[in-house]
Amino acid sequence: MHSPGITVKPLRQMPGGAEFNEVFFENVRVPKRQLVGQLHDGWRIAMTTLTHERASASFGTQVQIQRSLEDMMAVAKHLQRHGRPLSADPVTRQKLAEAAMRVDVMRLNNYRAMTTEVRGRPPGPDASLDKLYWSETNKWMQEMGQEMLGPLSQLDPASPYYPTSVNLQRSFLWSRAETIFSGTSEIQKNIIGERVLGLPRG
Ligand SMILES: Cc1cc2nc3c(=O)[nH]c(=O)nc-3n(C[C@H](O)[C@H](O)[C@H](O)COP(=O)(O)OP(=O)(O)OC[C@H]3O[C@@H](n4cnc5c(N)ncnc54)[C@H](O)[C@@H]3O)c2cc1C
Repeated sequence: MHSPGITVKPLRQMPGGAEFNEVFFENVRVPKRQLVGQLHDGWRIAMTTLTHERASASFGTQVQIQRSLEDMMAVAKHLQRHGRPLSADPVTRQKLAEAAMRVDVMRLNNYRAMTTEVRGRPPGPDASLDKLYWSETNKWMQEMGQEMLGPLSQLDPASPYYPTSVNLQRSFLWSRAETIFSGTSEIQKNIIGERVLGLPRG
């Protein structure tokens, strides 16, 4: 990264931070001693790296999503709507129950993936199933969090009128990135179709 020709430009994100960058390479020469693996084998190395990223990211993410769901359940208990706690509203209850089931499915999928790795088998294209499932679930769940807060969701989370100490606004905005990074949902579906289900391309 210290070679001449490399420019790093931080990208400002919707939730406020700038956690990753655009990286430009202009006529950059990489010394031979920094070659990873074999010459002309970069595609395989990149694919293997991305597969591991998808597989391992699911473990920690499931715990974060579980915590986020617990936050929403706490919010539903103390937020009042039409004179009663939101947690007494049948539609909200159904959605929270569905979220709890989805998060549990995520946990079990992770155990399956972990068992495979413990048995010495590297993660394969089926890691895309987990990535697709947790990212789409969290996006759906964070939208539900905003629905629960209603118009109050638009307040600055630092405002004394924001109804929860948990910043659900940030989680919602961040969740939009999850179906893009590590490969978009459409790309995961292509991988699942072609490399897991063996469907024809195109
Ligand atoms: C928060 C965040 C963090 C990131 N971190 C990193 C990082 O650390 N390292 C890194 O290298 N990159 C990172 N990225 C970049 C990320 O991997 C890319 O944004 C992502 O792979 C999509 O590529 P793209 O932006 O070029 O979109 P495009 O590939 O141009 O896709 C645009 C749209 O077209 C669809 N599309 C594209 N090709 C197909 C196809 N064949 N079939 C069907 N639909 C298709 C996509 O699904 C998408 O909806 C990050 C992105 C975000 C948002």
